Order: sequence, then structure tokens, then C-alpha cells
Amino acid sequence: VAAGPTTAAERELRRLLGPEAVRPGSERGYLSDATASRGLVGHAEAVAIPQNPDQVAATLHWCYDHNVPLTTRGGGTGLAGGAVPQGGVVLSLERLRAVHELRPELWRMHVQAGLPTADVARLAREWGLYYPPDPGAAEQSQIGGNIATNAGGPHSFKYGVTGHWVTGLELVLAPGERVVVGGPGRKDVAGYDLRSLLVGSEGTLGIITAAWLRLVPAPEAQLPILATYPTVEAGAEALSAVLGSGVVPATIEFLDTGAMAAAAGSFPGPPPGDAALTLIVEADGTTMEAERQREELKASMQPGSQRLHAPAGRGEIEALWRWRSGVSPAVTAQRGGKLSEDIVVPAERLVEAIVATQEIGRRHGLRACSWGHAGDGNLHSTFMIDPTQGAEIERAEAAAQALFALAIELGGSVSAEHGLGLVKSGTLERQWEPAAVRMHEEIKRVFDPKGLLNPGKKRARVS
Ligand SMILES: Cc1cc2nc3c(=O)[nH]c(=O)nc-3n(C[C@H](O)[C@H](O)[C@H](O)COP(=O)(O)OP(=O)(O)OC[C@H]3O[C@@H](n4cnc5c(N)ncnc54)[C@H](O)[C@@H]3O)c2cc1C
Repeated sequence: VAAGPTTAAERELRRLLGPEAVRPGSERGYLSDATASRGLVGHAEAVAIPQNPDQVAATLHWCYDHNVPLTTRGGGTGLAGGAVPQGGVVLSLERLRAVHELRPELWRMHVQAGLPTADVARLAREWGLYYPPDPGAAEQSQIGGNIATNAGGPHSFKYGVTGHWVTGLELVLAPGERVVVGGPGRKDVAGYDLRSLLVGSEGTLGIITAAWLRLVPAPEAQLPILATYPTVEAGAEALSAVLGSGVVPATIEFLDTGAMAAAAGSFPGPPPGDAALTLIVEADGTTMEAERQREELKASMQPGSQRLHAPAGRGEIEALWRWRSGVSPAVTAQRGGKLSEDIVVPAERLVEAIVATQEIGRRHGLRACSWGHAGDGNLHSTFMIDPTQGAEIERAEAAAQALFALAIELGGSVSAEHGLGLVKSGTLERQWEPAAVRMHEEIKRVFDPKGLLNPGKKRARVS
């Protein structure tokens, strides 16, 4: 496909989809995602913004006929560069945001893939229901993007990640066919579990156009407690006490000293002070249940703590969670950029990983910190950088490689929830057996024989 002021891809897609559904490939808003602060920008020949699933199918059909790569884009909040195009066509789902069906009495909804995550959660709430997955950038991310990355979030500890809430998918598969896997039903073992295979496939196996989502009645009360500890070890003991308390918290989050220092200025409560480790644990259920559980959790968290903060009332509680969502941008603001990974380790190795992240940063001459989902052993291990300094970015990339080696050595994984995308593409062979790596590659070939769906992403091997 020829390059030029108007590319052939752009002209032909305009003819196919109509002029309002196509934009130039040079439009910067479609060339990067949340990895832009580490300097990642892609390139494309055209941007397709289909109005309906038939146009999605027509776009993939055209790409398959003309051997043009296609990168599916949701809200562009991904932290692995998955939506950053490496040439070809970007297909944005932003116009597919219809709510096909909301059945509160059956605890389910059927929505198009481009609906923002926060809209899904709000809609459920309006009917007294709850959609628990809550990845941080919920106002911008789309439900399709969440499914394609199998996104988690603070409440995944009790409620599970996105895939747990998806019973069916409407898809477009190569070379441009509309297909449904699963549906509104809650159980289905008739065939291989293609639904689960597509969940977390990062746009490399097919394009998700709609999904059936499970919901549950909303808990009457959600009561968080924040506790700070003077040493990482004291925090770790509190974490063990919480897990051994017999209460199932809805969430167990942590911030290390650097993450807290970055976000402390906007903390919605008494100043948190200097802490080596901060834990946020939440009880939920009926008001009576949640209050009783919060007291039990407080008793587990008290020993060794510097201070306990239990926000009261809806406003204070919402402010705490808004603040928690702002930790990632607050860390970015420290130096203008960051390399943030999402390694996971067995819960009992969490402290080692927190300390090692800081040590890896020191070795590479970088400020480092971590925060994340302690109950899941999932750290957002982060190196703060000035994105205009190439040498710093290089040191941070080397630090990230050391971090991946650490995750594997501790018996974990290089990615808990952001996916491999572009930035971790090829790392899988470091943690999987050769036979499993081969299977991964063969699955990709079955779904995408020409290798045109999001090329370069989620690859098992470097070459
Ligand atoms: C401040 C901040 C906090 C975050 N917190 C969390 C967190 O707590 N937990 C977490 O898991 N993530 C978190 N993230 C990462 C990100 O928000 C999630 O990964 C989110 O699920 C990405 O959704 P998106 O719509 O923005 O997808 P995009 O970034 O647009 O795309 C991500 C990947 O999915 C593919 N894709 C997108 N839509 C589709 C589709 N319809 N069909 C097929 N493939 C598709 C893309 O090709 C790409 O590979 C955070 C990000 C930010 C910026």
C-alpha cells in the first residue's frame, strides 16, 4: 500500500465504509497508548472508525485481501503498547457503544465493545447491581479493551478479573467473519473454551465487537481501612494477619514508600506521613456484615502499624478510591515519565519483590517504587524517568528486563494484568516450557494465518 498525503488504504477504506468512518493514519491520537510517557509512538496508513459490526468485518476483510496489518484500538489506556500500531490500519471501536440489553432481574447485560468501563459500572449501579472489575483508567478504557487484556483492578482479589464476568463474545475473526462464542448463559462446556482463549488475547486473535456480562447485586456497604507501617516487614506481617483472619476482604492493596511519597500530597484524609508500606483493605457486604468484618480486619492490621484510617461515609470512601486511581498518574508526574510493569509473584514472595524493585532501580541509577494488588501478589513495579532523556529510558528498559527475571525466579509471571503487548513481546519463552510456547504460536496461526492481527504483539518468542 503506497504511502503519501492520502494513502491507498485511506482512499479504499473511505470508499468501503464512507468518508466519516476513516481518518488519516497520521492522526497522533491513534498512534500511542499509556506507554507514550516511555516514548512509544507507532505509525499507520489509515484509521478506520466503523459504525457497526458489519463495517468491522468489512475492514478486516479488506485488510486480509490486501495483506495489510490491522491493530484494534479500545480506549488507548493500555500499559503494554498493545494498541500502538506498527503500520497498516488502526481499527477503533469508539463508535460501538450501544447497550443491547440490560436485564437487572437476570443480573446481566449485553453491550458493545466500545462502551467505556465506567459506563458499564454506572449502569449496573443504577439498577442496584455491581460489575466488580475496576481497572484504574475506567473512564477512558473500553469494555472490549478490558476483555482483550483480561484487566484486573483492586476488587479482583475477591471478585476475579474481567474474564470471570464475561459469558459470551461477539467477534470478527479472520478473514472477516462475524462469530459468536458463548452467550447470555452462565455455563457452557460444549466445545473448547474459545471464549476464554479470546479473553486476554490483546487483539491478536480476533476483534471483539460485543459481550454478555454477568453482574451481581451490589454490596450494601464497602468499608475500606488504610494502615501505614514503618517497615516493609511490619506491613508484611499485617498482610499475613489479614489473610489468616478468616474474613475475605474485597480488596488488599499496597503502596511502597516511593509510591506513597508521590501520591501523599492529594491524600483525602489526615496526612499519611512517612511509611515504608501502606495497606488498603476493604470489607463489603450488608452494612452489618461489612461493619463487623471491618472491625475484625482492623484488629488484624493494628499490630505494628503507625496509623489506621477508616474513612466514614460515602463521600470519604469514594475520595479514597479516587485517590488510589490517581497513584499511577501521580508517579508519572514525578519526572514526566515512567516505565511501569505489572509483574506477579506468589503472595508469600511479595515483600521480596517490593524490596528487589527498589534495589533494581538503585542499580540502574533510577528512582523506583511499586504499588498494586497485594492480595494477588501483583506489583506495579515502576522506574521513574525523564522521557526526553534517551539514556534514562535505556537504563529503565534494562531495569525492566531485570524485573522480569526476578518475577520468573520468584515463581511468578512477567505480566499479571496489562498483557505482553509490544513492550513485553517475546518474553514468554523465558517463563514457559518449549512445548507450551509452540502451542501458543500454533494457536495464533490458526486464528490469524496471515499474521495480520496486531503483528509484533503478544509474541511468545523474540524472533
Ligand atoms: C492510570 C491507569 C491505571 C490502570 N490500572 C489498571 C488496573 O488496575 N488493572 C488493569 O488490568 N489495567 C490497568 N490499566 C491498564 C489499562 O487501563 C487496561 O489494560 C485496559 O483494560 C485497557 O483497555 P483499553 O480499552 O484502553 O484498551 P487499549 O489500550 O486500546 O488496547 C489494549 C489491547 O487490547 C486490544 N483491544 C482493545 N479493544 C479490543 C477489542 N474490542 N477487540 C480486540 N482487541 C482489543 C488492543 O489491540 C490492545 O492490544 C491502567 C491504565 C492506566 C493508564
